[in-house]
Amino acid sequence: MSFLQTTLSGNFDQSERLTILGDGTEIRWIENGVLRVSPKTEIKSSNQLIISSGVHGNETAPMEIVDAIVSDIYSGALSLKTEVLFIIGNPEAARNQQRFIDDNLNRLFSGKHEKFDSPEAKRAQVLEKIVGDFYSAVLAPDGQRLHYDLHTAIRGSELEKFAVYPYLPDQNWSSAQIGFLEQCGIQAVLLSSQPSGTFSYYTSNEYDAHSFTVELGKVRKFGENDMSRFIAVDHGLRDLISAKESFVNKPNSIKIFAVVEEVIKKTDRFQLHVEDDAKNFTEFPKGVLLASDEGYEYRTRIDGERFVFPISNVPCGQRAMLVVAPTFIE
Ligand SMILES: [Zn+2]
Repeated sequence: MSFLQTTLSGNFDQSERLTILGDGTEIRWIENGVLRVSPKTEIKSSNQLIISSGVHGNETAPMEIVDAIVSDIYSGALSLKTEVLFIIGNPEAARNQQRFIDDNLNRLFSGKHEKFDSPEAKRAQVLEKIVGDFYSAVLAPDGQRLHYDLHTAIRGSELEKFAVYPYLPDQNWSSAQIGFLEQCGIQAVLLSSQPSGTFSYYTSNEYDAHSFTVELGKVRKFGENDMSRFIAVDHGLRDLISAKESFVNKPNSIKIFAVVEEVIKKTDRFQLHVEDDAKNFTEFPKGVLLASDEGYEYRTRIDGERFVFPISNVPCGQRAMLVVAPTFIE
């Protein structure tokens, strides 16, 4: 059984919705692309873990990582000690190796799907319901809600692997989580400055989960990923699943950035002053012009500012780029 191939084919067998393995592990198909795996009660860790991938259908490496993990749970090669919800976000787009069909799914959570009518809007609604059911179980005092939403990026990056920490109103960033991400090979964490429609912001904000959008490198086609580049994150996820991870490692060399400017395209005169193929996290000295619009200019204010996610062809009123600067957490 391949979780990924079955999901892509779209025809999972209704009669095999529940599989019980020899050791009592239960594997349930909740919906196409969604598996809930539950270990036998007496060996369960208290964490409630969500591992999602394929929220953008062309980002294949995370789906292949998850597929291998699920296969190892089925075969018994990986011992399951934590309840896990595995999600392949956008199977229809993944089948076409497209980022999305009509709308960017990762902008539609936290109810934003209500204003849209598209396959992605429906999927966001379904996933919100499934996540709500999963996290509705009472959390033991020693348990944590965890959500790692795995992505790869189209644009190259000076820091290949980075995580976006969703906006936390109380700025109560978890250094234990950042330490874990560093162990997973993540080189930088970007602290968000405001709410958004992402999947990770949704689980963080609604369910108080430790949630992250995790960018693991460059987009490639199915079968073309160099899986050796993902060994650290694969180990980290497997340790979580087998309840071997206790979040004791402190962050060491991982870089932390805060958003210092959210550049919004206001008029048609808007221009980004960066190369089309410039890499995310390109670093600039103070005083460099990065964006301009009618009555607006953004020049870097200090040495060491960097930009992330630049797109100039967004509709007016939308975000065209983030500017970030190094920061630290307590
Ligand atoms: Zn993505």
